[in-house]
Amino acid sequence: MDMHNALPPSEHQATLTRLLHMLAVTEERELSCEEVFELVDYCAELQSAGIAVQDVLPAVANHLRLCADCADEYRALLRCLGMAGDETTATA
Ligand SMILES: [Zn+2]
Repeated sequence: MDMHNALPPSEHQATLTRLLHMLAVTEERELSCEEVFELVDYCAELQSAGIAVQDVLPAVANHLRLCADCADEYRALLRCLGMAGDETTATA
């Protein structure tokens, strides 16, 4: 019997909530790569849902524009979500 093999998603949710709160407070501050890496999969989900990351998490969108490492990670996640293809449409 493996009735309790499902991990509660609340832990990840708590991390996300904490980061989002932190972002709301420190809007002006530049994010570290570590912080962006925590949020980048959430951003990819937003993007795949048709929500602009720029609108929800402008600080992250800004970091992704400036940081090749995080942009790379973000692009890989988008690819996982089936958002790959035209990189040309990603930049305005
Ligand atoms: Zn970075």
